Amino acid sequence: MTDIKSLSKEELKSEIKALNLPSFRAEQIYKWLHKEGVTSFDEMTDLSKSLRAELSEKYDISYCEIEQKFVSKIDGTVKYLFRLSDGEYIESVIMKYKYGFTICVSSQVGCKMGCKFCASTLAGFKRNLLSGEMESQLHAAQKDLGIRISHIVLMGIGEPLDNYDNVIRFIKTVNDENGLNISMRDITLSTCGLVNRIYDLMNEELPITLTISLHAPNDEIRSKTMPINDKYGVDEVIKACKNYYSKTSRRISFEYTLIKDVNDSEQCALELAEKLKGFNCHVNLIPVNDVEERGNIRSSEKAVNNFYNILNSKGINATIRRTLGKDINASCGQLRRKKQGSEIF
Ligand code: SAH
Repeated sequence: MTDIKSLSKEELKSEIKALNLPSFRAEQIYKWLHKEGVTSFDEMTDLSKSLRAELSEKYDISYCEIEQKFVSKIDGTVKYLFRLSDGEYIESVIMKYKYGFTICVSSQVGCKMGCKFCASTLAGFKRNLLSGEMESQLHAAQKDLGIRISHIVLMGIGEPLDNYDNVIRFIKTVNDENGLNISMRDITLSTCGLVNRIYDLMNEELPITLTISLHAPNDEIRSKTMPINDKYGVDEVIKACKNYYSKTSRRISFEYTLIKDVNDSEQCALELAEKLKGFNCHVNLIPVNDVEERGNIRSSEKAVNNFYNILNSKGINATIRRTLGKDINASCGQLRRKKQGSEIF
C-alpha cells in the first residue's frame, strides 16, 4: 500500500480528487499527517467514519515506534531506537541548544558508503527511508518529549544524497507551513561527497546548509577511511562546493573527524588550509567517537587544539565541536547494530 504520509501536497491533492472528494479534504488530511503527526486515520476526527475506513483500506501511514530511549545524565541529550513498520530499526538523537531543539535524523536503514570510522555501515545497508519515515522521527520525538523541534541535521544513519528524491521530499514537507513549518535555513544536510548529487542539490536552490564529511586533506589519506573517495576525490569535492557556494550563496561546512595518527598531523592541517584558502567556508573539527569495532583512537586534546590553531592562523574559520550525549553513545549507528546483533546471535 502507498504511504500517504510520503505523498507531496500536490500528489495528495490529486489522490483526493481521484476519490471524488472535495479539495478541502486534502488540506484536512495534510494537516493531520504533517502538523499533528497522527499515526492512524481514526485520529482524523473531522472526517466521517466511512471516509476514515475507506482511506485506511487504501493507504498506510508510516510511523516510528519507540523501541528504546536513552537520556544523557550529563546534558539531557535523548537518543531513540525506533522500530519501523517492517521491523527495521533506525536511530535519532535530540539535542538541546540555546536556540532550540535539534534532531539528528536517519535517512536510510544502514549505509552503503563503508566509511571505516563509522558505526552505521557495520550492519550493512537494508533500504532507503521514505520521506514519511524521516518525518515520523520528528513527530515521535516531539510527542514523547512534549517539545517543538526547530532544527534538523541529516546526520543520522545513512547517506542522504544516496536517497536523494525522498530526502528532497522530506525537506519540502517539513518546511511546509501546514506541516512542521521548519525553516530551510535551520536544516543541515551532511554528505560524504556524492559530487553528482551535490550538483543536483545546487540546482534545487534550497536555502539549506550543506555539510561535507571531508576528514582528510588529500586523496591518499581520505581513500584509506572513505571508499567513496575513489569515485570522487578531494579536489573534485571541493570544486563542487565552490560551485555550490557561487550559485546558492550558502556557506558550506566541512566536517573533519580527528583520528590519532591518521589525519591529525600539522602537515594535514597545513594542507587543508592550503586547499580551502580563499573559500568562504567553515571547518568543524570533531574528535572521533570511539566505535568498539573500529579501533580508531581519538586525537589528543593537544593535537586537536594544534590543528585548530593552524587553521585559524591561516585564516580558515574553524570550531571544535563539543560532544553531547557522551554517556549514551549518542553518535548514530551503534544501537541498530547492537539490536541486530542480539537478534542474530
Ligand atoms: N552520510 C552522511 C551523514 C551521516 S554521518 C555523511 O557522511 O556526512 C554524520 C557525520 O558523523 C559525518 O561527518 C560522519 O563522517 C561522522 N562520523 C561518523 N562516525 C563517526 C565517529 N565514529 N566519530 C565522529 N564522527 C563520526
